[in-house]
Amino acid sequence: MKCDWFEKWSTYSPTKLAVKNIGTGQGYDYKSLNHGANAVATILEKDFNLTKGDRLLILGDFDAEYVALLGVAQKMGIILVPLNYRLSANEIAFLVQNSDPSLIIVAEEYRSLLKEVPQLVADKVISFTQYSDWLLSAAKAQKAQYNSKPLEENHPAFILYTSGTTGQPKGAIYTHGMMLWNSINTSIRLKITSDDIYLNVMPPFHTGGWNVLTAPILHFGGTLIMMPKFDSEHVLKALEREKVSISMLVPTMVRMLSECDDFRKIDFSQLRYMIVGGEALPIQLIEQWNEQGVPIRQGYGLTECGPNITSLEAEDAIRKRGSIGFPNFYVDTKLVNEEGVKAGQQEKGELWIKGPIVTTGYWKNAKETEKAIVDGWFKTGDILIEDEDGYLYVVDRIKNMYISGGENVYPAEVEKCILKHPEIKEVCVVGVAHDKWGEVGKAFLVFKNGQREVSDLTAYCIKNLAKYKVPKYFEVMKELPKNDTGKIDRKMLR
Ligand code: ATP
Repeated sequence: MKCDWFEKWSTYSPTKLAVKNIGTGQGYDYKSLNHGANAVATILEKDFNLTKGDRLLILGDFDAEYVALLGVAQKMGIILVPLNYRLSANEIAFLVQNSDPSLIIVAEEYRSLLKEVPQLVADKVISFTQYSDWLLSAAKAQKAQYNSKPLEENHPAFILYTSGTTGQPKGAIYTHGMMLWNSINTSIRLKITSDDIYLNVMPPFHTGGWNVLTAPILHFGGTLIMMPKFDSEHVLKALEREKVSISMLVPTMVRMLSECDDFRKIDFSQLRYMIVGGEALPIQLIEQWNEQGVPIRQGYGLTECGPNITSLEAEDAIRKRGSIGFPNFYVDTKLVNEEGVKAGQQEKGELWIKGPIVTTGYWKNAKETEKAIVDGWFKTGDILIEDEDGYLYVVDRIKNMYISGGENVYPAEVEKCILKHPEIKEVCVVGVAHDKWGEVGKAFLVFKNGQREVSDLTAYCIKNLAKYKVPKYFEVMKELPKNDTGKIDRKMLR
C-alpha cells in the first residue's frame, strides 16, 4: 500500500498550513510540502542512487525542513536515522557504522561530530542547507512529481537509538505500520483532528519528538509548529500567540514553565491538553496547570512500542492521581509477576505489550531482539500495578530497583514521598553498595529555596516510609543532571 500522507493532504487541503518554523516564521502548506518532498525524493534517487530500504542519517535541529523528510521516507521507503547531536564523535561513529547509511545530511554546526567516521562514509555527506534549498525551491515552484513506492506494514520508517543505559545503544526499528496504528490510537484517545495545532519542543532523535504527536498530527492533516530548542519563556509565548491546541512535554519542562514569571498571565484558552509523559509527574504540577485552565493528560509509552501506550483522561488526573490511565485502543497489555504468571489486582508485575504498535526488533541486533520480544510480547522492563478499576500505575523500572537487606526498593516510591516535603523541588534516589545491607538508598536533592544543607529529612522519611526504604545518604545539589529529553539522568547520578 502507498503510504504518502503529504500527497493525500496536498489534494484534500492544499493551502492548509502543515508545518512552520517558530524562529524564522518559514511555513509550508501541504501542497508546498508535498512538492518539496517530491523534488528531494527525485534528487536522492537520481543523483545519489538511494532506493527503498537505504538509510538516511540526519544530524540537525528539528525544524520544518527536517519534518519534510518524513514525506521523503514515505514516498521512497528509505529509512530515517535521526542522531543525537549531543553525542561525542566516537559515539556517532559507532551509530554510523551500525546503521550503515547511504547518505548523511548534516547541519554545519554538527559537522565536526563526523570527524571519527571513515573517509568512505565522509564522502556520502551533504549539508542540511543544501537539502533545505532543494526543498524550499521546489516548494515555491510547485511542479515536482514523484511516483511513491508501495510499503509493507513492517517496512522500517525510522531507526531510533536508545541512549544505551545498559551497554551499547540499540537501534529500535519503528515501522510504517507502527506509525499508522499509533496515529489511530492517539486520535481515538486525544481526539486529534485537522483543526489541531501542535507545538513540538522535543528533539528529533527521540520517539517523543517524532511519534508522540508529530506524526499523528500529520496523519490527520493538522498543523505543526516547530521549536528546535526548548526555552521556557518562548514556549509560553508561543502557546498563546500560535493558538496551540495541544502540546507534549516531559515533567521537568512542565515545572520550568510553571516557574516562569509570565505563567499566570498567559491566555491558554486554545490549549485543549498538555500531554505529559516520559516519567512520573508530581501532582502539585497538575494542580498548578489546572488552576490556569489547562487539562493535563498523563501518558505512558516507550520508543519500542507505540510510543503512545496508555493515556489518562484529564478529568481523572486528580481523582486517579499518579495513574497513567488505560491502554490505548489497538494495544494488548498484561502484567506478569515474578513467578511469570499474570499479576493479580494491586500486585506488581512487568508490563508486556503486544499489537501492531510493537517494534519488529533492534537493528542488526538479534540477541537483544530475542531478549525483548517473546511470542510477540514486548517485555518493557517497567513494573506496574493495576487498581480495582483497571487504572494502571507505573511503580518503577526494573533496572532502577535495588535490594536492601533482602527487600526490593523502588526508588520512585521513595521519591514520591520526599517530593511531598514542602521544601523539596527535585529528588532522585539510586541504590549504592553497602557492607551490611548489600545496597542502600542515596537521595540527591534540590531545595526550593536553594538551601544546601539537609536538615530533618531522615526523620521525615522514617515517619512516612518503611525503615528499609529510608535513604541512608542524602546529597544536596544545585540542580539534578538531565538527559537530552529533560529526564533526570540516573545513570550519571549512579
Ligand atoms: P533509554 O532506553 O535510552 O535508556 P528511555 O528508557 O528513557 O531511555 P524511552 O523509550 O524514551 O527511553 O522511555 C521509555 C520509558 O520511560 C518507559 O519504559 C518508562 O520507564 C518511562 N516512562 C514513560 N512514561 C512514563 C510515565 N508516565 N510515568 C513513569 N515512567 C514513564
